[in-house]
Amino acid sequence: MSIGILGGGQLGYMLALAGYPLGMRFRFLDPSPEAPVGRIAPRVTGDFSDRAALEKFAHGLEVVTYEFENVPVDAAHFLAKKVSVFPPPVALETAQDRLKEKQLFDKLGIGTTQYATLDSAYDLDAAVKKIGLPVVVKTRRMGYDGKGQWVLRTKEEVGVAKENLPKVPCLVEKFVPFTRELSVLAARAKGGETALYPLVENQHRSGILRLSLAPAQKVAAEIQKAAEEAARKTLEALNYVGVLAIEFFECEGQLLANEMAPRVHNSGHWTIEGAVTSQFENHLRAINGLPLGSTMPIGASAMINLIGELPDSKQVLAVPSAHLHLYGKEPRPGRKLGHVTLRAPSFENLTSRFASLPSFFQRPEFCLNGNRP
Ligand code: AMP
Repeated sequence: MSIGILGGGQLGYMLALAGYPLGMRFRFLDPSPEAPVGRIAPRVTGDFSDRAALEKFAHGLEVVTYEFENVPVDAAHFLAKKVSVFPPPVALETAQDRLKEKQLFDKLGIGTTQYATLDSAYDLDAAVKKIGLPVVVKTRRMGYDGKGQWVLRTKEEVGVAKENLPKVPCLVEKFVPFTRELSVLAARAKGGETALYPLVENQHRSGILRLSLAPAQKVAAEIQKAAEEAARKTLEALNYVGVLAIEFFECEGQLLANEMAPRVHNSGHWTIEGAVTSQFENHLRAINGLPLGSTMPIGASAMINLIGELPDSKQVLAVPSAHLHLYGKEPRPGRKLGHVTLRAPSFENLTSRFASLPSFFQRPEFCLNGNRP
């Protein structure tokens, strides 16, 4: 099986690593000659809108998928005329625009953050009046890892924002005083079968995921049910094939969908060692028409993102249940360079094992109590 992946970052890298044992072969398209996948697979270097590069990339492939959600939808449609493209381009189109995403959640009856649209900074007063401070302003497109978003708490901050916000379509969202952030990862096969991983608790700093705990602890039955329903409805509505992630806020016993990602997701990295079948393998199984694998967790896992700086590999690997993943990128502030997954038979064991990680990991921002609500 020859699989083409649009985007050559760490998600593509981990997809290929999961596919090699199944006899799959990979080719990547990425604009950067430094894309991490260059170490493990052939790569076409070219812009996603470069038709000649797309032709070269698609030649002889059986299926194309994406590891990056800001691939131009036109590129996906262009490729879909030559080769199967999964997840369907409509999922890409929806996830690329925060308004379309919210409208889909609304249509499906999935609770989401209260929002107003903002077509220019001058409408900000009206939008803030409608929603009420504090708010989060987000660009509708190209926002990820906290980029393209601003929290406004006071009238003064609204005044400053009016002068400085980029003149692009935005959403103004209610700032949610959530108890915690949760995500669901769900896979749907070509025949419509679905498989859901247990809910994961995610801790972000400055909009970037730092730590995931899986399975999330103390999840009320109605929260679990709401997340599963949201995932299944979204998969069905988009006639989805592959892995989809939905991120939620848990607030006052309710689940509010924040956003979705039509691809494998950072909050699912723990599944490589922490579940019977990883999210990467299940995505590949789905898009290749193979049966989905079990999503059952193996004990409890903590996944820690390595951002901007790396710990000493020897010290990490000296901890028996720690698994180190390095993406082969040059360190730069704010850049995801790798991750560590720590696995234990139970959540209690996980907490004590975490304490044996090197001092690099002993930071107040890593909160393992996982017991909130
Ligand atoms: P996003 O790019 O929408 O995933 O946002 C990145 C992170 O910013 C989220 O994971 C939250 O930690 C925070 N955030 C985003 N939107 C809101 C909101 N409406 N209220 C509170 N925090 C938010």
